[in-house]
Amino acid sequence: MKKENINQKSEKHYKKDDKKNKKKEWTSKIVEKTVEQSDKGKTYGKKEVKGRETQKKEIKKQGKKSGNALVCPYAKKCGGCEYQGLSYEEQLAKKQKWVSSLMKKHGTVYPIVGMEQPYYYRNKVHAVFDRDRKNNVISGVYKEGTHIVVPIDRCLIEDQLADDIIRTVKELMKSFKMKVYDEDTQYGFMRHILIKRGFATGEVMVVLVTASPVFPSKNNFVKALRAKHSEVTTVIQNINGRGTSMVLGEKEHILYGKGYIEDVLCGCTFRISSKSFYQINPIQTERLYGKAMELAGLTGKEKVIDAYCGIGTIGLIASKQAAEVIGVELNKDAVKDAIANAKRNEIKNARFYCEDASKFMVKMAENGQNADVVFMDPPRNGSTEVFIDSVALMAPKKVVYISCHPETLERDIRYFKKKGYQPEGCYPFDLFPWTGHVETVILMTYCGSDKK
Ligand code: SAH
Repeated sequence: MKKENINQKSEKHYKKDDKKNKKKEWTSKIVEKTVEQSDKGKTYGKKEVKGRETQKKEIKKQGKKSGNALVCPYAKKCGGCEYQGLSYEEQLAKKQKWVSSLMKKHGTVYPIVGMEQPYYYRNKVHAVFDRDRKNNVISGVYKEGTHIVVPIDRCLIEDQLADDIIRTVKELMKSFKMKVYDEDTQYGFMRHILIKRGFATGEVMVVLVTASPVFPSKNNFVKALRAKHSEVTTVIQNINGRGTSMVLGEKEHILYGKGYIEDVLCGCTFRISSKSFYQINPIQTERLYGKAMELAGLTGKEKVIDAYCGIGTIGLIASKQAAEVIGVELNKDAVKDAIANAKRNEIKNARFYCEDASKFMVKMAENGQNADVVFMDPPRNGSTEVFIDSVALMAPKKVVYISCHPETLERDIRYFKKKGYQPEGCYPFDLFPWTGHVETVILMTYCGSDKK
């Protein structure tokens, strides 16, 4: 999966080199109140965090308290958050330093935009099911590099309602005597759970990934789930009978609701299906895309390309200030969502194509088509020289590059420069607090006068 995979292997840059800081405070600023509770010799933090109404909950047994530090109890085993043990300010400083070290030779690097409340920001939560030695159903994440499941009940960066729903599903699995899938014997039924939540709409999707298509007592299961969580607006059964580490299989059955959820971002409503990419931190995404729009400086007359467009977010937001938008994306479910999203928002000047972005750009350039602004938001491995060559042939005045990996961004910028584009300032955004990931948006303008 793309940028949101918080369990990806740490990269060189993210190495936990700062062990002495491990016991530092977890961001005091955003915590209203910290109460200490003693529990059989262990001290737990019980915090109240400012924020969305639904998240104004007490967090019990959330983090072990050690001196002044509040650390996620699963941090070591889970390995998902490389920046556990650092204060939020230190995390931001590290990200700033990383982006600056790579990008300052290409122009000004502006201060990173962090979150006021860097908790519970993930609107998408995945867990794998297993059984412990006592045969209890557990859920959690794979220990890095293995298929051993680390049981996790609460996560400091995941949506809390999603974690509640996972707990309920575990209880229901017990009462419905549902078998957990065993990867070794390939026997059993329930494999994974995926939850997506539209923070703006409140809609919740629950995807139950099963090894086989026959779901015993499915209606009663859904009824029992909804009895506990009326917030759930759609339930999907995804069938994954393969022995791979891919979470989702091809086939799906809608067990309840419309089969997708909606969310609102930058004034547009977006439909999100189980398989399509949607940024996992909508609060920061609005800021990031806001900056991307500002840099594009659209006037209403431009022809815009949204490359690697996913469900059409950037292109549809831009369409309101552009003459025409063309989006291209490889994932067919995402393209379906993008087309539906254009309709949903009554946007008539946007078209979406399902194709490899590089091949699509080559075709456009060969057909003598041009564009005024290209937005590009590729996955972690960045774009390709073929893509950039074709952009250069079309010679749009502006390229707005949104990146989830500064190193591939820097590589691509060097190639853009060779093709006559000049970067103008780099804006980092923290979309993934407690992890080493960082998003960056950069504007490049066309200076190669030979082509224009
Ligand atoms: N701009 C979107 C999606 C960005 S994520 C958003 O903000 O939500 C990157 C997207 O690139 C994913 O949707 C992924 O499916 C798509 N992608 C990956 N490789 C691609 C390729 N070769 N051609 C086109 N799209 C690709």
